[in-house]
Amino acid sequence: MTRLILQSPLSGWCLPLAEVPDPVFAERMAGDGVAIDPTGNVLHAPCDGVIVPMQGAKHALTLRAHCGHEILMHVGIDTVQLGGEGFEPLVQPGQAVTVGQALLRVDLDLIARRARSTVTPILLTSGGRVLRRSEHCALAAGDFLMEVEMDAAAAPDPSHSAPAGSGLSRFFDVAFDHGLHARPSALIAAALRPLDAQVTVIAGGRGGNARSTVALMSLGIHCGDRIEFRATGRDAGKAMVALEALLGPAGDTGATTSGEPADPVAAKQIESRDQVRRVAAVVACSGIAIGHATQLTHAEIVVAERGTGISDEMAALDQAIAQVKAHLEGMAGGVEGGGEQQTILSAHIELIQDPEIAARAGEHIQRGKSAGFAWRRSLRSVVDTLQASGDLRMMERVADLRDLENQVVQVLSGRPPGHARTLPERAILIADELLPSQLMSLDANCIVGICTARGGPTSHVAIIAAAMGIPALVAAGPQVLGIADGTLLVLNAEHGHVDIAPSDSERVAIEQDLAGRAAQHAADLLAAQQVAMTRDQRHIKVYANLGALAEAAPAVAKGAEGCGLLRSEFLFLDRRLPPDEDEQAHEYQAIAVALGSRPLTVRTLDIGGDKPIAYLPLPREDNPALGLRGLRTSLWQPQLLRTQLCAILRVQPAGQCRILLPMVTDVGDVRVVRALLAELRTEMALAELPALGVMIETPASALLADQLAREVDFLSIGSNDLSQYTLAMDRGHPELAARLDALHPAVLRLIGRAADAGNAQHKEVAVCGGLGSDPLAIPILIGLGVHEVSAVPAMIPRIKRVIRSLDTRACAALAQQALELPDAAAVRALVERWRAAQPPAPAPATHESSQTISGE
Ligand code: PEP
Ligand code: MG
Repeated sequence: MTRLILQSPLSGWCLPLAEVPDPVFAERMAGDGVAIDPTGNVLHAPCDGVIVPMQGAKHALTLRAHCGHEILMHVGIDTVQLGGEGFEPLVQPGQAVTVGQALLRVDLDLIARRARSTVTPILLTSGGRVLRRSEHCALAAGDFLMEVEMDAAAAPDPSHSAPAGSGLSRFFDVAFDHGLHARPSALIAAALRPLDAQVTVIAGGRGGNARSTVALMSLGIHCGDRIEFRATGRDAGKAMVALEALLGPAGDTGATTSGEPADPVAAKQIESRDQVRRVAAVVACSGIAIGHATQLTHAEIVVAERGTGISDEMAALDQAIAQVKAHLEGMAGGVEGGGEQQTILSAHIELIQDPEIAARAGEHIQRGKSAGFAWRRSLRSVVDTLQASGDLRMMERVADLRDLENQVVQVLSGRPPGHARTLPERAILIADELLPSQLMSLDANCIVGICTARGGPTSHVAIIAAAMGIPALVAAGPQVLGIADGTLLVLNAEHGHVDIAPSDSERVAIEQDLAGRAAQHAADLLAAQQVAMTRDQRHIKVYANLGALAEAAPAVAKGAEGCGLLRSEFLFLDRRLPPDEDEQAHEYQAIAVALGSRPLTVRTLDIGGDKPIAYLPLPREDNPALGLRGLRTSLWQPQLLRTQLCAILRVQPAGQCRILLPMVTDVGDVRVVRALLAELRTEMALAELPALGVMIETPASALLADQLAREVDFLSIGSNDLSQYTLAMDRGHPELAARLDALHPAVLRLIGRAADAGNAQHKEVAVCGGLGSDPLAIPILIGLGVHEVSAVPAMIPRIKRVIRSLDTRACAALAQQALELPDAAAVRALVERWRAAQPPAPAPATHESSQTISGE
């Protein structure tokens, strides 16, 4: 391990990278570090070292410290296009320099006028960790900037040469306007870094490490240059796929540098992808689509840094905010069916009025900055705080803030709010990260799929995609950003991958499959209003999970026999004060009416942990998922629970509502709530109390389900949290998303135990977590003794069809086999095989009087 102190190379304001107006730097794709908004015009050496030659790149300078660290100083943003104008080098490539030595004179005025920003990222491009850094403070050149540490083994080899031995080789014609400057270099390096491969780029007879941004930049590769990449190692094939995705098709493919490929498996993968290339991703909204790649790069709008006067800029900002707010309100009013989209728009309306964000922007304007610059910087500092929280759900809210940043800056630049681009037919949207307003402003009829390079499965955009019924993949990595517009894609949001340019025969097969699915869906919808009976005449109730009033009527139209889970959080999140009893009662009543006389299961507030709310100052927790969550939060703030219970008890007719308690550990939790309900019954002079149930979503509650079942009226299994806590995998973790599967036998054993306990007490046992919406899981759940599922409304018709095809005794035998398997993949494989051997579902019975769902 070597440590190094870096001094500030410039005088100016030091800011975190997240505030740099360029995603490649802001997302640390080019390396970790800090940025300086310079006031001084001479760049100094941050430490002793040697100047790394960077052909034709006067706007950026790399210093290699004696310990091997490489420090890239990129003066301004988009300064490559100045072609060296405004920069006067004071040192030569290869020259040894000492700390503090003047390296480069910069014409700051020219850069401020002609480039996007003067902000200068100072980056550690050779890996390593930043141990301490300055941020949000004024610095003079020579002040402490950061302390960095690097594993000696990670130090780049300055004499990097082509990998020895055999490997893969591809030639590419560089199509980036300014050649391989910082941004494309960083994208390439970031795509290759996670792979187990040595990759060398060869240009003009010189070689460099393709996993290093600096090495790529230093080769001075121009637009139109033909360059070669050579790769060896286990992931050599994957490296070539990633490069093709970023650089376009290889000019001369398939050649190996010598003899056999380094990795025959990797080479085979490439060969089989001569026709189809596949990029893996995380499923955010299930489904399959075929369509044309439509890149939605939202080029950042350039804003002037300097303002034209404090009062003018303040007025301009206020006006722009008001305009965007009015636009958002208009959209919220016009959203068909409301639901999630309306909830998200309401959250945006709240956020845009946030006094803290406005105050921070005001401070920047007071310091002479323009309205756009001030707004952007203010939001980015909030983004930075969210990102620093390390909380994945909070980090997913970053997209909402970026969205508001863009919308206001767009208005300030003279464009109307919500200005959207026209899409081709059957568009598969590809974006680094899709912003909620972007998606909502596009013509949904043209969108058949979504694939983002970043983002998580619980981001708002994923929720909107689900509400719109659009299959979506997230976290596909930067390689998808290189797919050319118009390329035919098959987006498989069931198995989590995108196939690029499928062959004709594959296209035809997918189209036939989709046509078959559409016909099946239409048939399922026709039968959806009838109850789902198994072959052996067991009625399995299919309820809907709801998150807003607007979802209730459409759920009934899809065949919901009631609501098995109303996530009441929707009333509490993204606002400054909690809803009072009247507001809640009004909302629950409206949902009850929309459901006709069907049961409405209101889950009490499930916040805290990963769903913090502003007006509840929850204590900081090291492990929020294991802290004050769900019922624990309610019991910690009993007034909140009392108000909510009063509101539920007011819903008419009495008996339509059921009360469901989240995150229960043991009977102690139930008894406290029972006592409170008894008190309210007297106070409100009620003849009877609604049914009370508990969520089984902690391993403790599953193991103690026999005790719980004696004290409550029903059990509802929350498979999402039950898997998270049983498998010890964060449900929001994108890296673990593929393994967090509730069909894991460990989770199934707990479900089976809870179901047995409920059945022994003749209490209803339901599943309301994601497993209830998974057609493959239904036979297992029924086999384990579950007789009610609560699913996302869109899945209800299909779930009912699956139920009609089942026999409970055969399901029980299948479930017993599943419990003995080693992992979730084996369970899925078992059910797939079993299902293929089952006879098709009989047509639903036509004696509608006895079979249709009761209610209006
Ligand atoms: C669950 O955990 O399965 C559940 C239904 O609750 P939520 O997803 O709202 O945490
Ligand atoms: Mg839960």
